[in-house]
Amino acid sequence: MNYHNIIKDDMLNGDGLRVVLFVSGCDHHCFNCHNPETWDELSGIAFDENAINEIFMELDKDYVSGLTVTGGDPLYHNNVETVTELSRKVKEKYPDKTIWLYTGFVYEDVKELEIFNYIDVVVDGPYIDEMRDTSLRWRGSSNQRVIRLS
Ligand code: SF4
Repeated sequence: MNYHNIIKDDMLNGDGLRVVLFVSGCDHHCFNCHNPETWDELSGIAFDENAINEIFMELDKDYVSGLTVTGGDPLYHNNVETVTELSRKVKEKYPDKTIWLYTGFVYEDVKELEIFNYIDVVVDGPYIDEMRDTSLRWRGSSNQRVIRLS
């Protein structure tokens, strides 16, 4: 799996101050997507031990509420295994911190995946430009849902 960025102290992608991982790879190709540079799974750089350590160093900080994984799509076929493993490790080490997951898939279509044992909040569905609503919190279009699983 490749990734584009790890953002620290983010307030736009979930509750509280968060560390946010932007993964590479998405085949939903939503019209007017804000991150089309992440569609190519080969874009960005390799998600390696250094990247994992960077995330864990942030989660070690008391004031950091948790991890958000977005992209790209964390559930893209080339990403789901790595993101599942990362989420499992984060939950084991930081059971009181939350994991938010953004995906272009509709939750009901993917809810059997192992990863949802570790996810606290999923923001689901493709971005639909005709349903764009800038007043919505955490999401870009009104078809998308913020689903609290825990
Ligand atoms: S699912 Fe997200 S990253 Fe993928 S095309 Fe749609 S808006 Fe862009």
